Amino acid sequence: PRFSDLGLSEKVLAAVSAAGYLTPTPIQAQAIPIVLELRDIVGVAQTGTGKTASFVLPMLTRLEKGRARARMPRTLILEPTRELAAQVEENFNKYGINHKLTVALLIGGVSLDEQVKKLDRGVDVLIATPGRLLDLFERGRILMNGVEILVIDEADRMLDMGFIPDIERICKMLPPSRQTMMFSATMPPEIKRLADTFLRDPKRIET
Ligand code: AMP
Repeated sequence: PRFSDLGLSEKVLAAVSAAGYLTPTPIQAQAIPIVLELRDIVGVAQTGTGKTASFVLPMLTRLEKGRARARMPRTLILEPTRELAAQVEENFNKYGINHKLTVALLIGGVSLDEQVKKLDRGVDVLIATPGRLLDLFERGRILMNGVEILVIDEADRMLDMGFIPDIERICKMLPPSRQTMMFSATMPPEIKRLADTFLRDPKRIET
């Protein structure tokens, strides 16, 4: 398959060319059309497989319609660590060069003031670790009812780090109509249960 066969927008295809990518990786070829059909996904994939672009590229295509409003992020990406969250932000900056989107990183160790100011101006993409997200939600600084897409990345690491109760709380705050993608390198029973509870008829993808 070619990137141009997957349903991605011109802006995204231009950024993919600029990144020097010639062909989609297997997970990208499988996931991108399904995300654009608005279906939920469970992706069993390790890092290094091109997993990040498999959700970032179709999200960018989808975000071209509509705009961000104050305190109401349109997409939410949950990461277990600050480092992974920062890497996903870099991916949005790299693939989003042709988009005028606001991306905010919500992680511990960064000044709350800055994060709150950014949220007030409106963000399209919020990349967060669960604890900091819940903290700002409880202070009333984030409204969850505008979230169109949720990504739960590295779910098995979330489990190892004890974040599953936080993830469950976050899922319950989001609009039931949202699209959800979950990625995990392995599928222990706790992660299967999470998918059964919070995803709707997900398509399973393996690499
Ligand atoms: P990830 O699995 O998302 O951590 O990506 C692993 C690496 O593969 C990153 O350095 C990406 O820049 C690179 N990459 C992702 N997709 C492609 C592609 N289709 N062709 C070549 N490199 C890619």
